[in-house]
Order: sequence, then C-alpha cells, then structure tokens
Amino acid sequence: MPLVPTGVRPSAEVAVNAVVQLSRTAFDAVVMDLDGVITDTASLHEMAWKRMFDGFMSTRPPSAGEDHRPFENEDYRRFVDGMPRFDGALGFLTSRGITVPPEKVRELAAQKDGDFRDLLAHEGVKLIPGALPLLIALRRAGLRTAIVSASRNCSAVLGRAGLTDVFDASVDGVIAAELGLPGKPDPAVYLEAAGRLRTPPERSVVVEDALAGVEAGRRGGFGLVVGVDRAGHGQELLDHGADVIVADLTGVEVAASPVMEAPCRE
Ligand SMILES: [Mg+2]
Repeated sequence: MPLVPTGVRPSAEVAVNAVVQLSRTAFDAVVMDLDGVITDTASLHEMAWKRMFDGFMSTRPPSAGEDHRPFENEDYRRFVDGMPRFDGALGFLTSRGITVPPEKVRELAAQKDGDFRDLLAHEGVKLIPGALPLLIALRRAGLRTAIVSASRNCSAVLGRAGLTDVFDASVDGVIAAELGLPGKPDPAVYLEAAGRLRTPPERSVVVEDALAGVEAGRRGGFGLVVGVDRAGHGQELLDHGADVIVADLTGVEVAASPVMEAPCRE
C-alpha cells in the first residue's frame, strides 16, 4: 500500500487504498464523521431508510413517471448518506419522480428516525476497525478531535459505543439545527467544528465516508480530506473531493510527535 506523507496532496495513482500518515507538525486537529467512519451505524441507517421507503412505495398506487423499485444501496449513497433527514428523504423521492407535500416528507423522515432508533436499540453499535487506536494515537500526538454528524442521534450513538466525552468538540444534528447550519455538502458543519477546536480548516483534516461529506471537506478548504471507503467506491469519493482513500481507519496512522519524543525532565 502506498504511504502518503503528511500534508501532501497525493497524485491520483497513489490516492486509493493508501495509508495516510498525520502529524502534529502538519495539522492541529482531525474532524471526523460519525456514521461509517467511527461507528458502523451507516448500515443501520441504510436499513432504516430502506424499511421506511420500501414500505411507503409498496402501498403507493402505480403512477406514470414514478419509479417504485425497492430502495438500493446506490440510493443510500447518492441521496441520503450524510444528509439531514428531510433533505435525504426529499432527494430520494425526487429521484424517483415522487412528489409529496413537505409535511409528508417530514412524516417519512420521522418514521425513518423511529426505525433507526429501533434498530439501534436491538442491534447496538459496532466500531469501525481502527477507530479506537486512531483516537488514542491522535490524543497522544496532541491532535485535537471533533465529531461531526448530521444525526440528531449522535450522542445516543456515541453513548452506545462507549465514546462519550472522547472528542474535544461535537457538531451534531441538534447543534446544526440550533445554529441554522445547512447540511453537507455545504461545509458549514465542518467549519463550525474547526472553529470549536480553534483551528483553521487548512490545519485540520476531515475524515469522511459520504460523497456529500468529502465534498463539504473540500469546499471548506480543509488541509486534507480522507475518504473512508469500505465498499469499493473510492473513485467516486475522489471525484467528490477526497484527497486520499483508505479502506478503514487502520489506514490512518499518526506520526510520533516530536514533543512526545522529547526527554522527560522531572
Ligand atoms: Mg458517514
């Protein structure tokens, strides 16, 4: 696997399935997406969206111009992954030629949230391989961390994963709504997270698995955008703004900090 040096935008041929090395010299902070990067809740979200949309479309009478095929993984990635719930629901329905009033979109989005909470309660939360070692290594190296999620369930998910209070800052769906921040691919939530860490975006790394998320990182002017690709869609992540693609967080290494290597004086 090619090793991408810290702070260097790699050429296209070394950008996929790389091992990226972060250092305190090049960066102050790492801002990470939650679902699909730290926790494996993306699969629960996808199941919840599918359950809701397939149920809705199966009871809707056939209509010219409407496509009622079951919700697919491709739909999840293109229209809803990483997006605020309302935007995701509206985006998918529009892609299938289905027009409903905004109240109905809100109702479907709320139904998806109920389905997700059910799945969270029953299935629990798994950590993505490499997540915990990476968080420990970042802290040791003196790199600050923030979690960013469009989800209003961010705190609940972190709690179920045993990661409460692990991050230095958090910008979730609740905070974004309070501040009126637009969802990804707008960079607002990532910029808010960098601001809370008191670091400029160019000194911060974004780690994301969604197309909308890597696009947000790129549009926000972040120093490095790492795409996490566990499903073979690396090229698409690159096309949307990722600088480098890793298979999971074992592909993100932290260079030993010169400060930490200094002799300890009592
Ligand atoms: Mg994600």
